Amino acid sequence: MQENDFLEFVARQTPAHPRVPVNIGDDMAVVNLFEPAGAGAADPRALLKIDQCLDGVHFDLARHSLTQAGRKAVNRCLSDCAAMACEPAALLLAVTLPHGATAAMAQELFLACRDAAARFDCPLVGGDTAIWPQTEQRLAITVAALGRAAPGVTPVLRSEARVGDLLVVSGALGGSILGHHLDFEPRIELALAVTRAARISAMMDISDGLAQDLPRLCAASSVGARVDGALLPLTPAAHELATSDGKSSVFHGLCDGEDYELLLALAPEQWAKLAPAAAKERGGIRLAGVPLTVIGAVTSEPELVVVDAGQVRPWPRGGWEYQSG
Ligand SMILES: [Mg+2]
Repeated sequence: MQENDFLEFVARQTPAHPRVPVNIGDDMAVVNLFEPAGAGAADPRALLKIDQCLDGVHFDLARHSLTQAGRKAVNRCLSDCAAMACEPAALLLAVTLPHGATAAMAQELFLACRDAAARFDCPLVGGDTAIWPQTEQRLAITVAALGRAAPGVTPVLRSEARVGDLLVVSGALGGSILGHHLDFEPRIELALAVTRAARISAMMDISDGLAQDLPRLCAASSVGARVDGALLPLTPAAHELATSDGKSSVFHGLCDGEDYELLLALAPEQWAKLAPAAAKERGGIRLAGVPLTVIGAVTSEPELVVVDAGQVRPWPRGGWEYQSG
C-alpha cells in the first residue's frame, strides 16, 4: 500500500465540515473551536496531530533505549507543531508495551516522553497503556499533540507558497540514520522566531526527506520548484554515508528522510526582513541558534527540478542518483 494513495482516498472520503477550515494533509489538522469574534479577538483555532512510533520501524529496542524511543515519539509530534508555527499546548500518549514489560520499563518510557514535552513547556495530560498478549508483538508509542496559535503568530500552512518565493531550509540535511533520527531538536523556537520576524508563505517539517516533502508542499500550493543541489546544506553524516555507499552526499541530503528540519517558502522581501533579526552567516543566516539556507525558489511550472552542475534535471522520485559529487 502506498501511503500517499491512501491519504488521497481519505481526503476524497472526508466531507467538508464547517469547523474544519483547512483540508486534510497539512502537518497538523486545524479545527475552529468557536466563531471568530472579529479583528483582535482570540484565535479560534486548535491544531491537532497524532503520530505513531513503532519498534522495528522508527526505532529498534535491540539497539536503542526506551528513553530514546519515547523522546523520538514526542519530538516527532512537536516537529509538526514547529511546522505549523504553533505552540504545543498539551500532549496525549498511548503506549502498547511488549509482552512481559515491567513497571520500570513503562516508567522509563513515560519519563522520557514527559521530559521531551516539558522542554517546550508542554504538559502530558493523559494517555492509555496496554500490553500485547503475544510475545512477538513490539512496542508501539502513539502521541497526539494539541497546538494553539502563539501570541502574535498566525499558524502557517503548506498551501500558500507563491511563485517567486524563496525556498529555505533550517539546519542541514541527510544521513539521519547515523543518529540524528533519534536525537533531533524540534524547531519550535525557530518557527516562532521566523514567523514573528517575517511573513512566511508556507512551511512544513522535512520528515520523509526533501525529495518527498517538497513535492507535497508544492502540490498543496499548486506551484513548482527549482532547487540548486549545490546550495543544499548537508550534514557530516550525509558526506560520511556518501563515501561508504557510492551515492552522492547531495543524494543523501535530498532522499534520506527523518531530518526534522523546516522547509519554508517566503517572498524575497520577507527573507530580507529576517537578515537584521539574525546573525549573518556564510551563504545564509542564523536565527534562534539555527542556520537558515536558501536552496531554490518556487516556480509557476507544475514540475519540480533540481539544478545539478548547471544542468536542469528532473526531481528525484525514488531510485534516482545525483550525478555530481
Ligand atoms: Mg510534518
